[in-house]
Amino acid sequence: MDSTIELAVRLSAAAVIFAAMALWEVLRPKRALTVGRARRWPSNFGIVVVDALLVRLLIPTAAVGAALLASGNGWGLINLLGLRLSIAALIGFLALDLVIYAQHVIFHKVPWLWRLHRMHHADLDIDVSTGLRFHPFEILISMLIKIGVIIALGIPVVAVLLFEVVLNATSLFNHSNVAMPAWLDRVLRLFLVTPDMHRVHHSVLGQEHNSNFGFNLPWWDWLFRTYRAEPQAGHAGMTIGLPIFRDPQELRLDRLLTQPFRDDRPPKP
Ligand SMILES: [Zn+2]
Ligand SMILES: [Zn+2]
Repeated sequence: MDSTIELAVRLSAAAVIFAAMALWEVLRPKRALTVGRARRWPSNFGIVVVDALLVRLLIPTAAVGAALLASGNGWGLINLLGLRLSIAALIGFLALDLVIYAQHVIFHKVPWLWRLHRMHHADLDIDVSTGLRFHPFEILISMLIKIGVIIALGIPVVAVLLFEVVLNATSLFNHSNVAMPAWLDRVLRLFLVTPDMHRVHHSVLGQEHNSNFGFNLPWWDWLFRTYRAEPQAGHAGMTIGLPIFRDPQELRLDRLLTQPFRDDRPPKP
């Protein structure tokens, strides 16, 4: 597949979901924002531009390219087994989701990886833009892990493209500051990580941000006992962010980029 088509599909899907969730946030917000959009959105968008430039420049082929390479050469476990495409795609999708879950747990447990990932958690509010806020080095490491898994397993191109589109979409969806009826959250939570489920992961409390690691499917959290249904203080009362980097100055793009290499020190005036 042409990489411009792949990029166009991913970007337009992300733009539509972003616009829909942003509108929902305005119409039916879940929580009052503490800092608000004006101070956070320019940096949260700025980091997306940095991430896109870095990943595209350093790894132009990205995940779909790796899948094309694997299928063209018959590499990987799935290709060796000669499974039907629908079964191979389903296994590939589930495997990628499990890897993303495991990688998220590892980014919380290994101190130097946590330094990269904690920037995502240092956002003082959680809304649709937080779903885009990842340090470029985390994006880079995550992409390399994904490429390794795609080649090792020989995951079909269609599963990889679908996974990339779905992962972008669910990240925007489950970071949104949207209110939805309790029954809808309950039904969706059976097969999808909902905003109320992921918000627990952005709690300032350690035991809460070390739970609900899933991005797409909630099943891994149930299976590996990292699931937590609700925040202790309730959704309206919980504090978002980390105990460190609470100065609103830390929401600047330059501060986001340097957070992994700094301990919490007040910025120079
Ligand atoms: Zn996390
Ligand atoms: Zn998050």
